[in-house]
Amino acid sequence: MLSRKRVVITIASALIGSPLMAADNPASHLHGQANLQLAFNDNRVDLLFESPAGNLLGFEHEPRTTEQQQTLDSVTSWLKATPLINTSESTCTVEAANVQHLGHDDGQAHAHTHGEEEHHADIEVTQVLVCSGLKQAVSLVTPISTRFSGVEHLTIEWVGPDGQGATRLEPGNQAFKLGR
Ligand SMILES: [Zn+2]
Repeated sequence: MLSRKRVVITIASALIGSPLMAADNPASHLHGQANLQLAFNDNRVDLLFESPAGNLLGFEHEPRTTEQQQTLDSVTSWLKATPLINTSESTCTVEAANVQHLGHDDGQAHAHTHGEEEHHADIEVTQVLVCSGLKQAVSLVTPISTRFSGVEHLTIEWVGPDGQGATRLEPGNQAFKLGR
């Protein structure tokens, strides 16, 4: 589990648009796994979602067909428009969102080898959400693993005024408890 300081710094640097994060942390590129970091403050959430592109798109290279381009476009707009966490009453709205597609060709940097595909890429999403009732919420939901069957394991880490926590969602699970 990340320390509170690291989570805060990671989210802060993502929000100012650091393009270096994925490159700095190649071990995080594991197919089937994705990571969601949340920072709560009153009814506001700053979040960072990182995933190998293949989990979300089914491919990691640049789009080669019209169909792949359409998949990329529709996934990108979904990630911009859909709150990646929500209260059980769906009170969250997206105030700001950014989606980055980060390609990296350096196969040596990876902890895994697979198939013929040498090119790997990550998708990184930052969102600022405002959710009424968030301060009182004891559990939250995320649409990620139901929207993307390629996300087999989703690690969620959060930090806020009441402390921090982490959990790992198995396939098909949407809800997680904040434990407060
Ligand atoms: Zn890959």
